[in-house]
Amino acid sequence: MTNYPNPAALLLEAARFSAERHRNQRRKDADATPYINHPLSVAALLAEHGVADGEILAAALLHDTVEDTETSFEELEVKFGARVTAIVAEVTDDKALPTAERKRLQVEHAPHKSPDARLVKIADKTSNLTDIVHSAPGWPLERKQDYFDWAKDVVDLMRGINAELEAAFDAIYAQRPTE
Ligand code: ZN
Repeated sequence: MTNYPNPAALLLEAARFSAERHRNQRRKDADATPYINHPLSVAALLAEHGVADGEILAAALLHDTVEDTETSFEELEVKFGARVTAIVAEVTDDKALPTAERKRLQVEHAPHKSPDARLVKIADKTSNLTDIVHSAPGWPLERKQDYFDWAKDVVDLMRGINAELEAAFDAIYAQRPTE
């Protein structure tokens, strides 16, 4: 349980908190979109594909706060409760590790994730691929293709949780850049 009287209050506070924590970050697109657009899009993807559980949606809004900002799990737990925090923890990489090792571990750990964490993870990858397709960060083609292929490796190990969301991932994966 959380400290909020209803799911809307929880979600709005999670969005406000996440926006405040990510306030100095921008996405890597040409327009340097405010970072908060990414967690908002992850939560929106889930909601659009049938996920109405406020705690999963709150975890989606908060999913990058510990990994990418000065936010602790303890802080999330006090504010948003144990379940939201556990989901965020499951989708948080250990930033002390080199990027290649973090990517390898995401593949290794994918089959062991909880259903709640799988939903957030698949939506996160879908959002990231969508950003690469539509806002074309200045990445070389091979880097984009590697990201697409790695994202698919991770998602393929988590399937069977939400067919609609997985189809949304497949639809954006089908736009894997080739030139
Ligand atoms: Zn993310």
